[in-house]
Amino acid sequence: MSECFLVTGGTGYIGSHVCALLLAAGRDVVILDDLSNSSADVPERLESISGRKPLFYCGDVRDAARLAEIVSAHKPEYVLHFAGLKAVGESGRNPLAYYDVNVGGTITLLRVLQRYGIRRFVFSSSATVYAPDAVMPLTEESPLGPYNPYGRTKYTVERVLLDLAAGDPSWRVALLRYFNPVGAHASGLLGEKPQGEPNNLMPRLCAAAAGATPPLTVFGTDYPTRDGSGVRDYLHVTDLALGHLRAVERLEQAAGVHTYNLGTGTGLSVLELIAAFQAAVGIAAPWTACPRRAGDLAEYYSSPAKAERELGWKAEKTAEDMCRDAWAFYLKAGCARNPDGESK
Ligand code: NAD
Ligand code: UDP
Repeated sequence: MSECFLVTGGTGYIGSHVCALLLAAGRDVVILDDLSNSSADVPERLESISGRKPLFYCGDVRDAARLAEIVSAHKPEYVLHFAGLKAVGESGRNPLAYYDVNVGGTITLLRVLQRYGIRRFVFSSSATVYAPDAVMPLTEESPLGPYNPYGRTKYTVERVLLDLAAGDPSWRVALLRYFNPVGAHASGLLGEKPQGEPNNLMPRLCAAAAGATPPLTVFGTDYPTRDGSGVRDYLHVTDLALGHLRAVERLEQAAGVHTYNLGTGTGLSVLELIAAFQAAVGIAAPWTACPRRAGDLAEYYSSPAKAERELGWKAEKTAEDMCRDAWAFYLKAGCARNPDGESK
């Protein structure tokens, strides 16, 4: 019998890419998603990519009865927990919603899993758990100190999982700290299509290149970086998805809690990403220099050495791959209602 994976948030941007890989690898996939930030046709799109369809349940991770129904019916070996709210700015305006869904939802889920004896868990954490003054590159040992409510919800869930595993060593947990995922599935069927006004760089870059918006606003050209613009560790969402499969393999071997940065290890500036976009798709996106965006750091990027050493995982795709695939999805995006713009 094939192993069953419960994937919360599995119709979202990152979760859908992981589901595509799991299905292609012959795993059974059960998705729970409330579709608050994704489209109901993602399961069909997954089927056309992999030839196999996931089971889909529409529901909220805060709904313990719904979770118990699904978990008791399918008895998943693994739970990959993507469901959550992810907009940094919104988390400042509505922190209760963020604590409710991201922390409360995770605790509800963990209680149900504990009741049914399921103790293999992969959590979508974030580079925002690190302290803003940490030295680059960020390793898993770098000081923690999230500086916005969203980051604090991720940090809190990490703590909960560490305490849970400390009290019951049969838990096997991966805390995956993502850096800046961009790009889309090679099929053009999965990707991130912002609703309304996007906040993230890549969808804004695509829109500016298409002439659908005014020129891209480059937030800050006076940072102490190579060219004055902000530097981030962008990684292709397909590489990020593969990291989840490697993390699951690791949990097969080792109990306890395992924390990994998932990034390329290379920082890219906004202006370098604009240049990579031009090299990849042949369009010079128009841009204008603007003041810094409040709350932004000048530069952060990962050391992915631990993931390479322990998981055998390394991001392979280039900035050009990320831009090309993001652009291809942007051109097709009439078909999709995947996640909302602002994220981390
Ligand atoms: P996404 O919004 O595309 O996916 C999240 C999915 O969860 C959506 O399909 C949404 O409908 C669903 N969801 C939201 N609240 C729910 C609830 N209460 N019950 C059930 N389903 C719910 O976001 P994503 O970019 O795919 O991010 C996935 C995870 O990775 C999130 O936990 C996010 O915080 C984390 N993360 C994302 C980034 C990023 O830049 N995208 C970076 C670091 C960490
Ligand atoms: N950025 C920009 N113009 C935009 C959107 C983003 O210059 O229209 C910059 C932003 O200041 C940061 C980088 O692009 O340096 C990545 O921003 P994003 O919002 O995508 O991710 P995050 O800030 O969460 O790392």
